[in-house]
Amino acid sequence: MITALTLRTERGLFQSVDAAVRLWAKVAGPWNTPEVGEDDCWYFGGRARNRWGYPRFHWPELGPGLNVGAHIAAYVLTYGPVPAGQVVAHSCNHKCCCNPRHLSAESQSENMRHWHRSRRRAA
Ligand SMILES: [Zn+2]
Repeated sequence: MITALTLRTERGLFQSVDAAVRLWAKVAGPWNTPEVGEDDCWYFGGRARNRWGYPRFHWPELGPGLNVGAHIAAYVLTYGPVPAGQVVAHSCNHKCCCNPRHLSAESQSENMRHWHRSRRRAA
């Protein structure tokens, strides 16, 4: 929790402290899980999933009833808004991971290329 809030305020981004507190409280990271390191995957424990299997994070400050992918919330709360036309991608390919070190914004086509590559590897 301290980690996320410190990153956020150092960079002077996003005002939603409440969302940050709720998000990081649901993520297994070094602040609440001793065996998880700074560079490990930080898994989101929320139950809500969308049809692609990404955990959802309820974020009413964005609008009534609005949900975003937990990894997107983690990205936005750490780095700021996702650039227009880009999506938040995982370098680790774990859909539930919210470690900002594993998240980056890239174009949809880059993301699809990575996805196909990882699917081929898995097959
Ligand atoms: Zn990860």
